[in-house]
Amino acid sequence: MPVPKRKLSRKRRDQRSANKGLKPQSLSSCQTCQAPSLSHQVCRECGYYKGVKVLRTKMDRMYTRGQSREAIAARRGAGVTPETAAPAAGSDNGAAQ
Ligand SMILES: [Zn+2]
Repeated sequence: MPVPKRKLSRKRRDQRSANKGLKPQSLSSCQTCQAPSLSHQVCRECGYYKGVKVLRTKMDRMYTRGQSREAIAARRGAGVTPETAAPAAGSDNGAAQ
């Protein structure tokens, strides 16, 4: 079995491992939204993969949350309308008297 003739110095060892660092990943653009995304992976921006919606993105969730908030606000608005109508009714009563 071959054995190294002498010990590798720390400098030589570290010089070798210096070339094993991280390399920048190559990016491709999304077919749907043209945003830069990793190839063969779901687009993080729009949640599409090969033209098919796969992932629910943060913007989708925010949109649905906004819709539910609008619905709640509309319900509250409908609840507020009689309250706003009540002083108007009082003023009507005052005008009637
Ligand atoms: Zn996309």
